Order: sequence, then structure tokens, then C-alpha cells
Amino acid sequence: MINSIGSPDYSYNANGIGSKLGSIIGHKPETAEFSYNAQDDVVMSDGTAKVDDVKVGLTGKLSTPRTKMKDKIKPNEDGKYVYDRKTQPKEFAAAHTFATVNNTLKMFEEAYGEKVPWAFKNDQMKINADKGEMLNAYYSRFHKSVNFFHAMDPVTNQMVYSGTSGEVVSHEVGHAMLDGLHPEYLACWSPDPRGFHEHFADMTGFMMATQDDATCELVAKETGGDLKKPNSLALTGESLGVTIGHATGSPRNCIRDANNEFLWQDPSTLPQMAPDDQLCTEMHSWSRVYTGAMYDAFAGMVSRNMGEGQSCEDAIKSCGKEFINLYAATLKEAPKGDFTYHQMANCMLKVDREQFGGRNREFLLKGFIAHNIIPDDLSIMEAEPDTGAKNVRTMTVTLGDDCGMFSGAKVDTLVDADKMFMSEADSPEAKSTQAHVKKLIEAGRILYTEPNQVVSSKDLFDKNGVPYDGVVRWVDGSMTIERNTIIN
Ligand SMILES: [Zn+2]
Repeated sequence: MINSIGSPDYSYNANGIGSKLGSIIGHKPETAEFSYNAQDDVVMSDGTAKVDDVKVGLTGKLSTPRTKMKDKIKPNEDGKYVYDRKTQPKEFAAAHTFATVNNTLKMFEEAYGEKVPWAFKNDQMKINADKGEMLNAYYSRFHKSVNFFHAMDPVTNQMVYSGTSGEVVSHEVGHAMLDGLHPEYLACWSPDPRGFHEHFADMTGFMMATQDDATCELVAKETGGDLKKPNSLALTGESLGVTIGHATGSPRNCIRDANNEFLWQDPSTLPQMAPDDQLCTEMHSWSRVYTGAMYDAFAGMVSRNMGEGQSCEDAIKSCGKEFINLYAATLKEAPKGDFTYHQMANCMLKVDREQFGGRNREFLLKGFIAHNIIPDDLSIMEAEPDTGAKNVRTMTVTLGDDCGMFSGAKVDTLVDADKMFMSEADSPEAKSTQAHVKKLIEAGRILYTEPNQVVSSKDLFDKNGVPYDGVVRWVDGSMTIERNTIIN
């Protein structure tokens, strides 16, 4: 219970200021109970989760040492932040979002062994549980926040809040954590670092769900232990996905399915945009290749743990924990700057071998080979596997005159600091950066701005509410294109 310390009859006045000011100022952080659903209401009924170190501010806003919520909620008489999503949807969304953000961070930091820094200069990340009307959710380094929204489902006429899905909220926290640990990934122009961002965000929701007993029980029933069968753990964002399907007129049962058959292919041969059932280099689409490989590895690990005598529920939970440890260790060793899926896969295999005795090697390799991330030729693997650059520096590339109004723009890219170049302008790194940016320009993913134009944060989103991939800035009279650090 939060607000009973020294004030059993604590209440709010009309301004939201506590009636016993003295007791609030003296308030100590406490553990409190919140509404929580590791999936969403399409999949299963709501439960609760405890959050540690919760503090009530002077204006009634909740915070923890690492987060502060912009929305305001009052606890029930029993001191719990547990609400009915039908009768108190806004309160439910706020409580659920706050609990999920904090517990996702806690889950990962316990495995990481230390504090995960934010990519911005504050100790606390802002949480906007309901920032307005939109069918979306995003992390913004620029705004130092994770943001969730609401929208009416045009078919069911129900209001849907993106902050009420555990997977969607954890996804945005995944972006925030990865940006804190590897801020350079959002500066890269090649598809793989952005695809990996989306993969890690989806996997963060996935890993959180594996630590939820109700989800494990449900998935055990759905699959009987064969996780290649369709199941709720593999599907991300069922509720939001259904509403997006209703709004766009193309029915769907989720946002993404980790249990997929997408194969790696040279990204330069793929379009930037494509229908959902086809692979393209748009980051969410492209992430599905790496996610599919890791999901296959997970399914194999679950069978292994069941073979060791665990029940299906226990195997899902214990493999989830093994995944959390593997990702936490990998992000300490992960390549810097630009990297390929192949290099990240090699890094994971190396971490598994060096820190976990190669316990998961068979399953990881199978997944990577099945999704074409690693060629089906073990002799290549046994030779020094390439795990990507360890030190990077910035290289500035100038776009050619085949980029329309963006011709001549300067673009920064990150290159291996240990590599020598005869001519930077003619290097493969410069050429591939030019090609990646040109592709984004042609797909309308770079926002053009005029010199002296004031760019508001709203401008950084297209008409569909999707953040642009890059934006023109004018530096000392010359056009530069910067990566957008808002990611949905
Ligand atoms: Zn995302």
C-alpha cells in the first residue's frame, strides 16, 4: 500500500494535492499492487503485479527511481492501483503501463547485473500512458519517454488503449533499454541494427510473458509443449493488431508472429515497403527474420527442458529465464555501430559458448540456419566467426546528385575504427550508406525541412503517425540528414 504511511485517511483534494501535505513530503517509497496483463484482454483475463520503490509526488503522480508517470491515478481505498478495464479504462491503462514499464526494466536489470542507463541525461524516463488518439505506441529518446495512446475500434466500437497490452508496453521499454546500452544502433542506416532494435523490443515483451505464470499455463494448454504450434506467446500485440486490422480493412490477429518462416536474403534486393505477408527492409518487417530464428531456438530449448523432466509450464518459464540471461550477456559483448544479423548471431553463439557452456548452441544454430542468417556450412562457423566491430568512429558521406532535393546532403555513418581506408568516399561503407539512404528517400521515409524551419516534434511523424526514419537539418548552411531517434 502506497499512501498509508503516517496517513491512513490520505485523500486527494480537487487539485489533486493530498490533504495531508506533511505526510506526502515525508512519504517513503513502497511496494504497491497494480493492474497487469502480460498479454492483453483478447488473450486472457487481467491480473495484478507488484512494483517496488513507488513514490507518490506532490501532485499525485507516481514515480520510481527510474521512471515518472505523467498520468495521474488515485489508488483504491485498499491502497491498490487495481482497476476494472471496462469501468475505469484510463486508470487501468495508467496502472498497467506503469507496472509493466518498471517490471520490464527490473527483469532485464536483474540479468544484466547492473543499472541499464537511459540514452538521455535523466535518471527517470517519462511514461505517458495515454498521450492521445492514435493506434500506436513509441519510444522517444528526444522526449525521454515511452508513449501510449487510445483509439476507437471501428468495428467493435470499443476504445482500445495500447498501454493495456503487456507485450506492447514491454516492447517500448525494450527500445529504451537497447538505446541506453547501444545508442549507436539508432544512428546506423543499414537495415540490420534497426531490425535488431525491433527484434529485441518484441523479444522483451516475449521474455516478460515467459515469466508470467498465467501465460505459461495458457501456452502449455495451447501447444502441449510443441511451441511450433500456433500460440499466444508467439503472437505479439493481439488486441492492438485486431484493431489495426479493423481500421485498415485487412484483418489480422496480432501485430507480429514470432513463429514465422521468413528467410534472410540480401536486403539490397528487397523493397523498403511491402504488404505484411512479404518481407521488406522496413524495420518491423525485417525484424521478423531474426525473431523467427530466435523463436525456433526457444521452441527447441523448451523441448530440451521438458526432456530434462520439466513440465511444459516450467520449461517455458525456465527457458525464458535462460533467454533473458543470454540477451543480457550478449548486449555486453554485442557489436558496436553498424552490424549484420550474421555478426550478431555469431556474437550470441560466442556468448553462449563462453558463458553458458554452449548449452543452447544446437538450438541457436538450428534457428539461425533455418532462417538463413548463418549458412548451412559448419566449417564456416568453426573458422574465426566475425562478431562485428568493437570500436567505431563517424564517417561523413555525401549523397550523390541522384537523390533529388536531398542531393549533396551529408550523412554520418559509423565505421570500424580499426579499419584503414584508401579513400573514404570510394569505400564500400560509403557506397552502402548512400544506397540505404537513397532507398529511404525514394520510399518517402526522410523528412525534408527548409533552412531556418522550426521542426516540432509532431513533424517527426508522417500522416499515419509513423516516425520518419530520418530528418533534414541545416548545419552551417549545409544540408545534413540525421536519424530519427523516435521509434515505434
Ligand atoms: Zn518497435
